[in-house]
Amino acid sequence: MNKCTICGSDMKFIPAGVSRKTNKPYKAFNACPKGCKTTFKQYVPAQPQQSPDKFNAVMEKLDNIEAMLETINNKINNGTANK
Ligand SMILES: [Zn+2]
Repeated sequence: MNKCTICGSDMKFIPAGVSRKTNKPYKAFNACPKGCKTTFKQYVPAQPQQSPDKFNAVMEKLDNIEAMLETINNKINNGTANK
């Protein structure tokens, strides 16, 4: 567990999300619960979480599978599947 370098409190894990102020996505980071402006170059997740990146990767794979199925369907419809 990371500790605040200013007050020594356990750092709170903030999961990645989208800023309500700017509507821009931000990466997960650790923040001091007491509000110190402590920053870490590398964040350490407090618990394993499904990241949006992983979710997007899975969705991309699903898209690829869908495209493959469409190709197979087209081949069957064109009667070229067994040639
Ligand atoms: Zn602190």
